[in-house]
Amino acid sequence: MSGNHLFQRLRKKWRFVAIALAGVAISFAIGTFLPGLPINENPANAVAQVQNVNKFLTINPLVNQVGENQTGFNLDRTIEQLLTILESKEKRLTFVPPEPFQGKTIFEASVNDSEKVIALTVDDGPWPETTEQMLDIFKQNDVKATFFWIGKSLENSPEIARRVVAEGHAIGNHTWHHWYDSMDAATVANEIDRTAKLIYETTGVKTTYFRPPGGVLNNGLAKYAKEQNYSVVMWSVTSADTDPRAQPEAFVENVLKGAKPGAIVLMHDGGGDRSRTVKALPEMIAGLKKEGYRFVTIPQLLEMQEQQG
Ligand SMILES: [Zn+2]
Repeated sequence: MSGNHLFQRLRKKWRFVAIALAGVAISFAIGTFLPGLPINENPANAVAQVQNVNKFLTINPLVNQVGENQTGFNLDRTIEQLLTILESKEKRLTFVPPEPFQGKTIFEASVNDSEKVIALTVDDGPWPETTEQMLDIFKQNDVKATFFWIGKSLENSPEIARRVVAEGHAIGNHTWHHWYDSMDAATVANEIDRTAKLIYETTGVKTTYFRPPGGVLNNGLAKYAKEQNYSVVMWSVTSADTDPRAQPEAFVENVLKGAKPGAIVLMHDGGGDRSRTVKALPEMIAGLKKEGYRFVTIPQLLEMQEQQG
């Protein structure tokens, strides 16, 4: 394939990345064939750009791999391989509901009863300690969940947010301030858009899943989110983990009692002391597993409903 033809195929938004990566690839090649040759200014810029992209995509090891696997240097092939990698990474960082659910409010999914799937959702983080403790539990149990983030929380814990994404969980928007009262149009837009922007800047994630704070559907937020093609994701089972008097055992009981195929479970990792939720989580997961449930993210759950529909 000729270089020109290849570049016509590159989607515009990847073009700068591809050029930057090509710069790096060329400097690998130069380093291999002409050791000691000083690298000029442009590849150095390319490295900086790749590092910036790498913050989200962790592609450096893959770039090295591409470099190592080659016998002789082939720019077209290198760019092809890198684009494939980037496109699959981009897919992993993009959470868009299936078309029938865009602009809709969802409380649970209808899936075949034989499909014992359930979606755990975790609100109000990312949060120091508790989010990471929950991530550890999810990892030990091979569970993927969906985290609905508050902009203000995210601002305080960007590293934790990147860990959530790196470990394969799905992400949704939970506004900037977590306000319940009715808001004017400009405030509503700001609550959602500002959070979406920070999610993208912090993690590279684009999401059009939205959960309204407190489940309030009539203060303007849900209406705006639906106009922007978000899915408004409510829940069908609450752990009731915001009840200040309840014991962790009660959270477990609430979830096991309400579980059914296609259910969406509400719990919290942030917004306050969530150590009781952390304490309840392993038992919650074990109880559901014992009943034969497997755990899916909200995007996976809706895709299942769409395919069965
Ligand atoms: Zn909340």
